[in-house]
Amino acid sequence: MTQRTGVAAPDYAAQIADLDLRAKVRLLTGASAFTLAPEPSIGLAEVIVSDGPTGVRGLQFHGGKPVTLFPNATLLASAWSEETAYEVGSLLAEEAMAQHIHVVLGPTVNLHRSVLGGRLFEAYSEDPLLSGRLASAYVRGLQDNRVGACVKHLIANDSETERWTMNSVVDEATLREVYLLPFEIAIQDSDPWSLMAAYNLVNGVPATEQDHVINQIVKDEWGYSGLVMSDWYATRSAAPAANGGLDLVMPGPIGPWGAALVRAVEAGEVAEPVIDEHVRRVLRLADRVGALGQPRDWPGGLPAPDSATRKEQMRRLAAAGMTVLANRDAALPLDRDATVALIGRHAIQTICMGGGSAQVPAPYQVSVAQGLAAVMSDRVTVVDGVEVRKRTAAAPSFVTDPETRQPGIHAWLYAGDGSLLEERHYADGVTMVALEDVFEKKVTRVVIRAAIDHDGPAEVGVFGGGDWHVRAGPASLEFRLRSSGKGFGEELIAPSADAGVVDVAGPTVIEATVETEYPLGVTHAEVAAAGESPAAGSLTSMAALGLMARPAPRPPQQVIADAAQAAAAADVAVVVVGVTEEQETESVDKPAIRLPGAQDAMVSAVAAAARRTIVVVNAATPVLMPWLEEVDAVLWAGLPGQEGGHAVAAALLGDIEPAGRLVTTFPAADGAAPAWSVTPVDGDLRYEEGPFIGYRGHHAGRVPAPLFWFGHGLGYADWSYADPEVTSGGEAPTVSVQVTNTGGRESREVVQVYYQPADPGQPVRLVGWQAVTAAPGASARVQVRTDQRMWRRWDAADNAWADLGRRGELLIARGLGDIRAVLPLERT
Ligand code: BGC
Repeated sequence: MTQRTGVAAPDYAAQIADLDLRAKVRLLTGASAFTLAPEPSIGLAEVIVSDGPTGVRGLQFHGGKPVTLFPNATLLASAWSEETAYEVGSLLAEEAMAQHIHVVLGPTVNLHRSVLGGRLFEAYSEDPLLSGRLASAYVRGLQDNRVGACVKHLIANDSETERWTMNSVVDEATLREVYLLPFEIAIQDSDPWSLMAAYNLVNGVPATEQDHVINQIVKDEWGYSGLVMSDWYATRSAAPAANGGLDLVMPGPIGPWGAALVRAVEAGEVAEPVIDEHVRRVLRLADRVGALGQPRDWPGGLPAPDSATRKEQMRRLAAAGMTVLANRDAALPLDRDATVALIGRHAIQTICMGGGSAQVPAPYQVSVAQGLAAVMSDRVTVVDGVEVRKRTAAAPSFVTDPETRQPGIHAWLYAGDGSLLEERHYADGVTMVALEDVFEKKVTRVVIRAAIDHDGPAEVGVFGGGDWHVRAGPASLEFRLRSSGKGFGEELIAPSADAGVVDVAGPTVIEATVETEYPLGVTHAEVAAAGESPAAGSLTSMAALGLMARPAPRPPQQVIADAAQAAAAADVAVVVVGVTEEQETESVDKPAIRLPGAQDAMVSAVAAAARRTIVVVNAATPVLMPWLEEVDAVLWAGLPGQEGGHAVAAALLGDIEPAGRLVTTFPAADGAAPAWSVTPVDGDLRYEEGPFIGYRGHHAGRVPAPLFWFGHGLGYADWSYADPEVTSGGEAPTVSVQVTNTGGRESREVVQVYYQPADPGQPVRLVGWQAVTAAPGASARVQVRTDQRMWRRWDAADNAWADLGRRGELLIARGLGDIRAVLPLERT
């Protein structure tokens, strides 16, 4: 572990002295959606940032050039490997450098407080140590290539409901011991060059105005030298945010700082040295990423997103994190010569990424059906499953652009005076109009055309606020959609939607005209005017309007009967189930963790008919498994990225061992977890469980035992443990244990060490882990160095850390459901 803080940094006094107040303040708000303002007079070039965290999307929110789609964060984290996290960081740096991007907006280290959180797929884990250590390695991977990281979202931003206004109520000890810890670890171990302040309030104060967190803890106590930027549109004020430690408002050019901040300085509400310090941090970031003074070199010849190099990397990274949750009678790995009935909507339309700002335009996405057919060819029969979405989603290649004949739609954007502002093709699956340009006029009417070739009932869905008129041959549909009113984010990521069914006969062009709910876009005049107004941060140039179509869904009973019939005819049934971007997305939380639609009934029916049933779960976070005892094996596959289907096939067949260990506890029932509801009450979301989130609360007996513990994962071998001992003392002991691979193939084991303090008020916690790979029959002595930061508690009365003493027990375990040794500790 490298300690990188405390390095004397230049103070940029000369550059700052060359700028007047206005020029300095101009640098403290973004210049556009994803760029920072340049200042040629002091050698400051434009700094370009991009989401993050599992792919580098580039400057466009939608419709940009293809970039590599990585497996999602929970899947990558399931490898419990700092080497993997480092590799991911360095590959993302390559993706960034290929696009001349300076900062990647990741990693996300918010915790899996409640499994209902819609955005957990983007964040590593429920455990702060695992999250912090993986984040540090990821940051080092990026920054060793001179690409900045942005660790987000500071702080207590662990669910999405009412995300702009909700107030997380968290006591100081819990904040320090749990939610701030990944940030603290990342800062100590990898010195990330930027952090992002969240949308929510914390204990009544907006995260972007948190003098306590940003100034006192992060910058003063931890000595953080990097930059703190706001989440997009999260800044609400000028003086309180600037005084609270926020360095940069994003995005721009409009925002609540600008002229308002200049006035606040002139009025004495903000001291000019505070502004200078923010500018210093902007300059330091620019310097670090090569945008100050001598411009950096960008390497050429980096692998393309669809290159053989990226294919190998993405497949390996995804498969290695997949997790074997159950495996009776060695049902897995799959017999290569078996005939397989491959069942489920997720087999055909595998979900390779979550929704929201983490989405990227992937070069391709391999479904499980494609992946398994590539290695098992005609021994696989693919059968569609029950519906998994409430909204209409485009069935692959069902909709084509009537102008270009490419998969997708064609859209025409008109102003109120009838003039055409833009005409465009939108590619397959991205049937969305995102108004990213700044127009001189506003869009008030959009016409979308899509061609289908289908006989019989077709479902036509529209989304986005407005009055819709849809024609498909002789049929027509009307929809009146109104937006949620929750503003940017919701209207883009989860817009209101509706659908109807039309009967079509053969080739048909669907034409949808929408009179938009309100004029869309931002004019140059508004931008200029808004620069003078602190309320301008609410202006946005983006909105989503879309048209989608698919064959009308069949009744679930029919679909399930077909699935069971196919299952009975094959040696093995592989059922792929999961959630979709309707559940795992930014801006929306899940109401429950039951699989959507009639998927549970489908699995039970297949299991009753099949000789063997293997379930693949295509979801980033826990789902319920009422059929667990009816099936032979369960493989958790996460959201596996562009190589998804190939990775699932490699894991099922054992070409790559799915050696993952869970990063989140799977509750046994809805509500059966220490923290559940994500709905604020009168605006407040109380973190009442304190530090007892996830496995910590289950182990303390506060809630029933889970379905699967954090840390659980079987891999493809068995392991015995012997001769455990504490080998070195000091602040943080080292534990050593002999492990033997008693299985029939080479395998990777993750030895986990937990500490249960003697004080029952203190939860059990992961204090260290170490992975080992061994051949069948081979043994290895594994040393696990525990992390010193887990041997303390926050003493609220003293306002300081207190040593827990070395009293209590160390548990050596494969998840707390499978404890292999207990080592009592004596105070030293
Ligand atoms: C998200 C951030 C993201 C930003 C820029 C926000 O909605 O919360 O994580 O980096 O948008 O796209």
